[in-house]
Amino acid sequence: MQGDNVPAPITEFDSGVIPLDILKEIQRAGFPSPTPIQAQSWPIALLNQDVVAIAKTGSGKTLGYLLPGFMHIKRMQNSTRSGPTVLVLAPTRELATQILEEAVKFGRSSRISSTCLYGGAPKGPQLRDLERGVDVVVATPGRLNDILEMRKISLKQVSYLVLDEADRMLDMGFEPQIRKIVRDIPSGRQTLMYTATWPK
Ligand code: ADP
Ligand code: MG
Repeated sequence: MQGDNVPAPITEFDSGVIPLDILKEIQRAGFPSPTPIQAQSWPIALLNQDVVAIAKTGSGKTLGYLLPGFMHIKRMQNSTRSGPTVLVLAPTRELATQILEEAVKFGRSSRISSTCLYGGAPKGPQLRDLERGVDVVVATPGRLNDILEMRKISLKQVSYLVLDEADRMLDMGFEPQIRKIVRDIPSGRQTLMYTATWPK
């Protein structure tokens, strides 16, 4: 943890910070306590600060950014028909699908709606989900760019942007696509990067 004014970690779920509906899902999952990366990054993200989090695979990074993202969605009260509030970019279809599963599971009782956009699958169902309106979009950069070019999604409400496995996305050559996507997102956003490795 680096920087000034670092807030105290949230070392227990039941510390009064996490809304009851989300807490219910965490208890249902049987998790005993926040993982270190969750404990450290939640309070920072909840202060609307940007986060760069590096922690090994399996350390619970997904919920590390989803939980503050859900709380952000509740505060914003945007209309889902005008586009997502939270955007998560991930390098592969497999990863995006796993993130979506976690978003659906933990967002259910707080009525957070989520969808996933990835290549190698028909666009029709993905576009229908967008039309119906969603709070959270989890996407691979290539497919999101296609849909942006079709003007079937607006990112003007996105105010919480997550780059998951950012290092892998750069390795895979997604930088130009990511730059294009980021240009469509208002600059006042909060940006979070979660990764297992980071080059020196
Ligand atoms: P990472 O992205 O760091 O590789 P994940 O977010 O995929 O890790 O989490 C790995 C597994 O741990 C998932 O099954 C997730 O549901 C679970 N998990 C998340 N938070 C906790 C927690 N606080 N306690 C126990 N298990 C957790
Ligand atoms: Mg992960």
